[in-house]
Amino acid sequence: MIAVIGSGIVGSLIAREINKYIEDVFIFEARNGIGTGVTKGNSGIIHGGYDDTPGSLRSELCYKGNKLYDEISQELSVEVKRVGSHVVALNDEELKAIDELEERAIQNGVKEYEILDKAELLEMEPNLNKSALKSFYCPIAGVTEPWEVAMQASKSVEINGGKVLKNKKLVEVKKKDNKFELFFEDGSSYIADLVINVAGLYADEIAKLFGDEVPYIFPVKGEYYLLGKDVKYANSVIFPTPSKLTKGCLVVPTVDGGYLAGPTAHGVKSKQDLSTTQEGLLEVKEKSLRLVPTLDFSRNVVKTFAGLRPETKEKDFHIDVGGGNVIHVSGIRSPGLTAAPAIAKYVVEYLIQEKLHINLEKRKNYINHIEKVSHLVEEDYEHWKRVIQEDPDAGEMICYCNKITKKEIKEAIKNGARTLDDVKFATRASFGECQGSFCIPKILKIISEETGLKPEEVLQNEKGSWIINSEVRAI
Ligand SMILES: Cc1cc2nc3c(=O)[nH]c(=O)nc-3n(C[C@H](O)[C@H](O)[C@H](O)COP(=O)(O)OP(=O)(O)OC[C@H]3O[C@@H](n4cnc5c(N)ncnc54)[C@H](O)[C@@H]3O)c2cc1C
Repeated sequence: MIAVIGSGIVGSLIAREINKYIEDVFIFEARNGIGTGVTKGNSGIIHGGYDDTPGSLRSELCYKGNKLYDEISQELSVEVKRVGSHVVALNDEELKAIDELEERAIQNGVKEYEILDKAELLEMEPNLNKSALKSFYCPIAGVTEPWEVAMQASKSVEINGGKVLKNKKLVEVKKKDNKFELFFEDGSSYIADLVINVAGLYADEIAKLFGDEVPYIFPVKGEYYLLGKDVKYANSVIFPTPSKLTKGCLVVPTVDGGYLAGPTAHGVKSKQDLSTTQEGLLEVKEKSLRLVPTLDFSRNVVKTFAGLRPETKEKDFHIDVGGGNVIHVSGIRSPGLTAAPAIAKYVVEYLIQEKLHINLEKRKNYINHIEKVSHLVEEDYEHWKRVIQEDPDAGEMICYCNKITKKEIKEAIKNGARTLDDVKFATRASFGECQGSFCIPKILKIISEETGLKPEEVLQNEKGSWIINSEVRAI
């Protein structure tokens, strides 16, 4: 059995890649949801690959990963919008950074870019700060919903004979001949022939369980605003010129039509500190307004949130074989979600096959294409009308903000969703402007009816996150 520890975008795509050769793949996830670690809270950008330090593993895998997203999008039925990105210079000092980016792009072998002058830039992005002088434009940059990629990749593993086990926190490892015995917090244990450690923020701690050292991981927080869909702010991802530490505070059009402003980059003590702060959000406002002055932070804010980067002093991915049949995939900070499909191939084609000398043969019965819960709102009206005739649930609107019907929610539950967050990330229900104020009771009721769980047993996400704790009036 091959064990993958962690169901983030990287772990799920690695498990899927291995599963193309071997049926017996298990994903063990500590949390009660798929892709709910670092993969849930980030900018969702498929970077162009032009600005990573030349010669680093990040630069090698980012550009390759970007290219692989067309295949990923088709095979896993996930949305990838190649909206392009601009790095914008607002003064003479920042113009130098545009030249440096061009130099890096050449060194990284990225040809898909253009340097746009003020007129060209403002024609494409009329809401930009009018002091903008130039941009480094990369048309292959895009946006996706990383948690959806992780959920679909995990689903693909299950469809192809693998197992995805939630609430399985790895706590101890014993070496047994050439194998590993893995012990989980719930008291269960499994024997694995090969283990892939893809535990995000915790990958350094997991490496220690195997007796291995990888670069120390410390959390760097990024705070964001999510803005609504009713105002058009930008057509592409808008970056400031980068600093040594980060790509800066951005304005990002999201896949479903909203906008992100952020993130900040400040070190924090705890790997669980996902709080937003007054100072952090003020910083986001100031920096993003400098790029797009029309951003409306008084009336158009949907929510604020934060994510944690698994940062290392080395600032590069550390992906290598440990002592025995274990591979550590650690330090997967930005551009980890862009690189994820390429990391999966690097692990399987280079580390497993070449470095560990494990011969793999592609399975003949492997199913490449995975369907997803359909978003009826994205179909034309005539199609939707036909679906309603076949299934009246398609005509019952549950989430008014994102226009998600009972049919889609039931489909998600049929596919394994059990918590409100499972439904939210599978369908976008409760993800809109009202943040579930109107639809959460209805979704809770549908989960309860479809699964037989009592309403008080339906969770928001993790253990203990119940919504109601005793009988209530009929909902
Ligand atoms: C603010 C911010 C912005 C970013 N923006 C971008 C961007 O725009 N583009 C880009 O390419 N990248 C971006 N990144 C980076 C990207 O989000 C990450 O590189 C990527 O999501 C990492 O995925 P992962 O699968 O390695 O980690 P995770 O998603 O954290 O997955 C690891 C999983 O392991 C599980 N786990 C941990 N310990 C155990 C255990 N003991 N047993 C079992 N399971 C365990 C966790 O619960 C988790 O689900 C950003 C990151 C942040 C924080």
